[in-house]
Amino acid sequence: MTRKSAAAAARATVYGYPRQGQNRELKKAVEGYWKGRVSAAALRDTAAELRRGNWQQLAEAGIHEVPTGDFSYYDHVLDTSVMVGAIPARHRAAVEADALDGYFAMARGTQENAPLEMTKWFDTNYHYLVPELGPHTVFAPHSGKQVAELTEAIALGRTARPVLLGPLSYLLLAKPAPGVAADFVPLTLLDRLLPVYAEVLADLRAAGAQWVQLDEPALVQDRTAAELGAAARAYRGLGALGDRPKLLVASYFDRLGEALPVLAGAPVDGLALDFTGPAAANLNDLAAAGGLSGKRLVAGVVDGRNIWINDFEKSLATLGTLLGLADQVDVAASCSLLHVPLDATAERDIDPQIARWLAFARQKAAEVVTLARGLTDGTDTIAAQLAANRADLASRAGSALTHDPAVRARAAAVTDADGRRSQPYAQRVPAQRALLGLPLLPTTTIGSFPQTAQLRTARADLRAGRIDTAAYEERIEAEIRAVLSFQEKAGIDVLVHGEPERNDMVQYFAEQLTGYLATQHGWVQSYGTRYVRPPVLAGDISRPGPMTVRWTQYAQAHCDRPVKGMLTGPVTMLAWSFVRDDQPLAETARQVALALRDEVGDLEAAGTSVIQVDEPALRETLPLRAAGHAGYLAWATEAFRLSTSGVRPDTQIHTHMCYAEFGDILAAIDAIDADVISLEAARSHMQVADELATAGYPREVGPGVYDIHSPRVPDTAEVIRLLRKGLEAIPAERLWVNPDCGLKTRGWPETRQSLENLVAAAREVRANL
Ligand code: GLN
Ligand code: ZN
Repeated sequence: MTRKSAAAAARATVYGYPRQGQNRELKKAVEGYWKGRVSAAALRDTAAELRRGNWQQLAEAGIHEVPTGDFSYYDHVLDTSVMVGAIPARHRAAVEADALDGYFAMARGTQENAPLEMTKWFDTNYHYLVPELGPHTVFAPHSGKQVAELTEAIALGRTARPVLLGPLSYLLLAKPAPGVAADFVPLTLLDRLLPVYAEVLADLRAAGAQWVQLDEPALVQDRTAAELGAAARAYRGLGALGDRPKLLVASYFDRLGEALPVLAGAPVDGLALDFTGPAAANLNDLAAAGGLSGKRLVAGVVDGRNIWINDFEKSLATLGTLLGLADQVDVAASCSLLHVPLDATAERDIDPQIARWLAFARQKAAEVVTLARGLTDGTDTIAAQLAANRADLASRAGSALTHDPAVRARAAAVTDADGRRSQPYAQRVPAQRALLGLPLLPTTTIGSFPQTAQLRTARADLRAGRIDTAAYEERIEAEIRAVLSFQEKAGIDVLVHGEPERNDMVQYFAEQLTGYLATQHGWVQSYGTRYVRPPVLAGDISRPGPMTVRWTQYAQAHCDRPVKGMLTGPVTMLAWSFVRDDQPLAETARQVALALRDEVGDLEAAGTSVIQVDEPALRETLPLRAAGHAGYLAWATEAFRLSTSGVRPDTQIHTHMCYAEFGDILAAIDAIDADVISLEAARSHMQVADELATAGYPREVGPGVYDIHSPRVPDTAEVIRLLRKGLEAIPAERLWVNPDCGLKTRGWPETRQSLENLVAAAREVRANL
């Protein structure tokens, strides 16, 4: 590529940076504050120190414009609710008494008042607090946090761009407040909200902001004409304000689609677009729309939500094309770097060759800077980086880790028949009934039992070498015996071993599969002060040996009733990991499925007649736009069937799903061809049972009758009511009785009591059928 002397210099920028600090200092400070060990002043100091460190890191990397306002004590959507004064009535007194304590009360709830509901941020693993709005919501501007953080950055000598959640996305992410009619549409509040944004923008302008970024990720979802019209109106209004900062409207996670011409035609000064993954379609869309004349284009060419190095040549080609489509092209990561860990150089345990394929937030900032330099000054000026990038990509492409001939040959040889059980469901049913001999309304649980402090200590002791493997395994066996004996005494019909050996349902398998890597410091925020360390699915996946058979077999040897084998499904294994981006997800899912298929076969051979393959994330990874649904569901359901269809007709395959509404994937739930499905349902009063019945779902179903998200014990009468409700939709021959989800976050006392009530309820309803 040659030097583009006519174009203005490309600036390097990002939209947000990990908040927690290299050693999760923020988590420690916030949790310390909650416990009264850290003062408010000390918490504020820690936060300011972290912000300063982030800006410094970004500036030293060569980032021209740093983001401000992306920092949060808990969640940036909650910060936006505070900014616009949308405090739920029940929390207003607390917020007025003390802003910080009130803020945490909204986030976490108090004895008296429920917190805001939490839900997934688009298709990421970050969770935000859902704004609660109603016809009587009165907005009022509170620009304090945004202004203070901008002022801090300017005082430190930074060129800073405040980042705000935009008004459309804020309203589209909101829900009707408790007590407000369920059909209330928050977007109808737009005209009330815009003057508040106008005031915040004016305050930021007065504090020295040249540019302000308004994030509108909700515009990458399928939007109605009315919603697009609202977007046009909103940005016409904000664009028309007098003395305002320049406005950059940002979108990410997918293509803007129909919203692109709306924003391109709006009187704003710049657009930030994602050009990675499915959002790469923005490039053609932008060309087809005739480009962005008169506007700044911020090009998100570095994937902000995955941890792999960029392909510089590919990005430079994209950027080169974009130069012809906008007046000013700047370079960025595709979205906030909040979704990736901080610094890959901290990973000293990963093979140095492989570590070179990784780019966390700090490395991504450097990539953005390199690309901006290449775009402005010509590729000669980044020759060394280009050569290193080419070598790293070549090392990745040619590595035995990413290309295992045996795995590839097996995946390539998969036929349709491999994904089909030998008999259709209707024929399997009598065989399974004969083998298992279960009563009507059989009782079971979802897999895990309480992960006690003793279990966690045993794992920590093993890691630290304080106990050896034999001693650790003895503790696990003792726990399995205790869990079994409780279940037998309680009268549960299909038992589980309780998963005491598992730290996490994905990590446990990732540690045993070839092709996965673990990080030491790869923490990312899941919500609030909860951080997760997703495993890295880096290479071709194979299973060196059985992963769960030992424990399931041990359990089955210690009781007479059937013990359910317990595995994590292929889609969930992908959804809760950082997955390789050098081949289609479908291909990776198939490899995982084949490894699981072998495990399922080994469990069956060891005498397991009920095997559950959990897919709680099946709904989560559904593409944001409907156009992508069919393609995704085709490979996702194929992967599930591939992992489970090698068994005999009389082996009963269960699956479990939760954390989601299932309404739009009912067909897929049937297409996976499991024999029994358990689902989260207690909180929605068995709604899913109705949905399945209406859709004609023909199989056995266990809609949860015990909400495991709180220590609350449901009494027998309550479980009976739920079961009777379930029976209105599902006939007794096909209804199972189980909790909503695993019990690992619960304590023993409430678990014991709740399951005893569950069994009592099942017996009572059974007796009166
Ligand atoms: N078998 C897992 C458990 O019981 C399922 C967890 C889940 O659905 N998230 O913990
Ligand atoms: Zn679950």
